[in-house]
Amino acid sequence: MKKNNTLFIVIPCYNEEEVIHETTKRLKEKLNKLIKDEVISNNSRVMYVNDGSKDKTWELIKEISDAEEHFTGITLSRNRGHQNALVAGLLTAKNYADVVISMDADLQDDINAIDEMLEKYNDGCDIVYGVRSSRKKDTFFKKFTAEGFYKFMSLMGVDIVFNHADYRLTSRRVLDNFADFKEVNLFLRGMFPLIGYKSDKVYYERAERFAGESKYPLKKMLNFAWDGITSFSVKPLRFICILGFIILFISVLIMIYSLVQKIIGNTVDGWTFLNISIWFIGGLQMLSLGVVGEYVGKMYNETKARPRYIVSENLLENKKGK
Ligand code: UDP
Ligand code: MG
Repeated sequence: MKKNNTLFIVIPCYNEEEVIHETTKRLKEKLNKLIKDEVISNNSRVMYVNDGSKDKTWELIKEISDAEEHFTGITLSRNRGHQNALVAGLLTAKNYADVVISMDADLQDDINAIDEMLEKYNDGCDIVYGVRSSRKKDTFFKKFTAEGFYKFMSLMGVDIVFNHADYRLTSRRVLDNFADFKEVNLFLRGMFPLIGYKSDKVYYERAERFAGESKYPLKKMLNFAWDGITSFSVKPLRFICILGFIILFISVLIMIYSLVQKIIGNTVDGWTFLNISIWFIGGLQMLSLGVVGEYVGKMYNETKARPRYIVSENLLENKKGK
C-alpha cells in the first residue's frame, strides 16, 4: 500500500473573500492531521485558483500563501468560469502532486470524505467520485431540477455519475490523460468517466454554504446543463432524423386519407394536392435536415479530437524496469 503521497487540493474561487479564511482554517486542520498521520507528504498543498475575482480574493490568497506553509495559489487573467478555473488548477497541480482532489471554496462538500477518498486511492483507484448521499437540504425545486438533469443526461447516453458534481479525487496519470482532451466546451463530470481506470465512489452529506452567495444562479445552471448535453451528446441531431421518418410516415397515411376523401367526393378542388404536398415536403425537409445533422454530429466529434483509447498498462514496459 502506497502512503505518503503528495496531495494537492484544487479550489476555484470567484469572489470568495467572505469564505476564504474559514476555508483555510478548516483545511489547514485537515491537512495537518493527514500529514501527521503520514497519509500524505509534507509537500502537500491547498491550491486556490482565483478565477478573475472582482473583490479581494486574490489579495487574500497571496496573504494566506505567505503565511501558511501548505497553501498556495494561481490566478487567471480574467473570469473564465468554474470549469475552466478548475482545469487550470488541475493541470497546474499535476506537475507537483501524485494525487489531486478538487472541491468548491465554500466547503459545501464534506472535507471528511477526503480520508476515505485517499484510502480508496491507496487501494488502487485512480478516480474517486464524491457523491451526495441525499438532497435533504435542497429545496424541492433544486432537487427536482438537479436529479432530473442527471436522469436526462443518462437518457441522452452520457455516462455520468448520479449526484456527483466536481468533488473528486484523481491520480496524476488520470490528469496526464485528461490533458489530451483538448475540447473547450467543458463538462468535467462527463469527461472523467471517459478516461476509465479503476474508480469508486464516496458518499457524503452536502452542507449549506456557510457564508457568501452562490455563484451559480439559475441562469448559469441552465446554461451549464445545456452545455453538458450539447457537449456530450449528438442525440438531439439523431432525433431530427427520427422525426423526419415519423412525419414522412404520417404523410403516407395523410396521402391515403386525402385520396379516399377525394374519391368519395368530400373535397374541394386542389385540397388533396395541397394536403399531400404539405405533409410530404415537411417530412422530406425534416429528414434531410436530420441527414445533414448526422454529418454535423460526426464532424463535431472529430473536431473534439478526443483520444481514441488510453493504454493503462503495457507489460513490455514493466519488464524493462526490472
Ligand atoms: N466559481 C468560479 N468561477 C465562477 C463561478 C464560480 O471559480 O465563475 C467557483 C466558486 O468560487 C466556488 C465554486 O465555483 O468555489 C462553486 O460555486 P458555488 O458554490 O457558488 O456554486 P453552488 O454550490 O451554489 O452550485
Ligand atoms: Mg457552493
